[in-house]
Amino acid sequence: MPTKTSTGRGARGARGARPPLRTARAAPPDMAVEAIALDRRLAAIGGLEERLLEITRSVPGRVTFSTSLGIEDQAVLNAIATSGAAIDVFTLDTGRHFPETLETLEASENRYGLKIRVMFPDAREVEELVARDGIYGFRLAVENRKACCEVRKVRPLKRALAGAAGWVTGLRREQSAGRAHVPFAAWDSENALVKLNPIADWSLEQLEAYVAANNVPVNPLHARGFPSIGCQPCTRAIKPGEDIRAGRWWWENEDGKECGLHNRPRQKDAAA
Ligand code: SF4
Repeated sequence: MPTKTSTGRGARGARGARPPLRTARAAPPDMAVEAIALDRRLAAIGGLEERLLEITRSVPGRVTFSTSLGIEDQAVLNAIATSGAAIDVFTLDTGRHFPETLETLEASENRYGLKIRVMFPDAREVEELVARDGIYGFRLAVENRKACCEVRKVRPLKRALAGAAGWVTGLRREQSAGRAHVPFAAWDSENALVKLNPIADWSLEQLEAYVAANNVPVNPLHARGFPSIGCQPCTRAIKPGEDIRAGRWWWENEDGKECGLHNRPRQKDAAA
């Protein structure tokens, strides 16, 4: 039975553990200002495709999109493909995905005729993690879980974002209390780029209508009670009335259930 109690085998002090990669950097003054202005322009644009084109016009440099293959990201992927916006696409293969997620990846590449860059964790880091914590060690302590997400998700994400000027996500404000104030655009000091959330204001009904109207391929797990899909051992179906992220790391407290990919924007980074 999973427990929230630390076993003392957490990330800190582990042999082979690497120091945190996050280092907040100051925004170039012009990009911090431009992110606030872009946030306002995106709020005034109704269509997703038009928002993406405005993003590529406004962000100087490479713009990249991280997809988890969930329904939100599938809508954004559809809009990238149909708009022709110059945005490259990558996903993180943690090694623990549901088969349905990988099948959605392949179906999307076939549907849109594009390649999704697949980022893998460092094999040696995974071996050290499993040797230290066990194959399901992430259920024994929050620290272990965060260490697993760090190795399998956060570090590959950092590699994928290196050198990018803009990072597009499928975050929506409705998804959780922690995402309630997600802006359309904001300077991300951790990654030294502009983070862009073009469907931040979409409701679930709006999202599902877009997906249906455009016949967007979606992960079949959504229809089986999985509104939010992560790694297989860390995701369960939810019951009627539960929060849409209740099935993620369900053995932990509700507060702060994020994997480290999308930390809450600091007030000074967020656009008004
Ligand atoms: S979601 Fe679970 S299996 Fe996936 S990286 Fe995080 S702790 Fe590891």
